[in-house]
Amino acid sequence: MLSHSATHSISHSVSRKLEHQDIRRYSRQLLLDCIDHDDAVIVGLGGLGSLTARYLAGAGVGNITLIDGDTVDISNLQRQVSYNEMHLGELKAKSLYNELRKVNAHLNIQFKSLFADSNNLPTLIASATCVLDCTDNVTVRKQINLASFRASIPLFIAAASGLTWQALNLPQNSVTCGCYECLVNNVAVREDCVSKGILGPVVGMAACHQSTQALLFLARGFDADIKWGHYVNAHAGLGTLQCFKLPPSSSCEVCQ
Ligand SMILES: [Zn+2]
Repeated sequence: MLSHSATHSISHSVSRKLEHQDIRRYSRQLLLDCIDHDDAVIVGLGGLGSLTARYLAGAGVGNITLIDGDTVDISNLQRQVSYNEMHLGELKAKSLYNELRKVNAHLNIQFKSLFADSNNLPTLIASATCVLDCTDNVTVRKQINLASFRASIPLFIAAASGLTWQALNLPQNSVTCGCYECLVNNVAVREDCVSKGILGPVVGMAACHQSTQALLFLARGFDADIKWGHYVNAHAGLGTLQCFKLPPSSSCEVCQ
């Protein structure tokens, strides 16, 4: 079943007419002519979120909400490529907003300099076509999973640590797919780039995958050629990628 917002975006695509300037800007991406009224909410603006947001803005996603309460630190610059030394000490959400405005001033970009939690998430994602989880914290991920499941809003999760990256696309409206809570119930999830270290390009690989999946969904809805409810685990050093279906956990308090 399509969510209301996804249905809206698809029906809108029929009537959308690209203007000459748009055609020139988006001439390298023929499939994304119907995303100008979509609404992507990006939670976490570190290495993942800052790059994913850049790709979504470049592609012309019409409404983008940036959420993070953190500030730019010198240790971030090695992998958070949307920031530079001019941004040190600034709020990430505002810094990224300013950078994305330079990419496309016609987009409706909102920024919220706050940390997402179980109290504010339902409001923050209420009008989203999809949510992109770019946080690095299991507790917040669980809260995002719960809020998006309750609202039946598709959720795109990505993570990176060491030389590995992971991703999961959740439709959040299907009883045959597990959810993030099901994953942590079954797998020992560890995400800690502080103790394990991380190479900048590995985060970039995760962000490229996540933004690709989200853009395909925004362009084509649930007909997009992507795998829902599959957990991807990739090793950047070995160049390997495994993908397996995440079954629902019968004991899951979120989706069952
Ligand atoms: Zn579940």
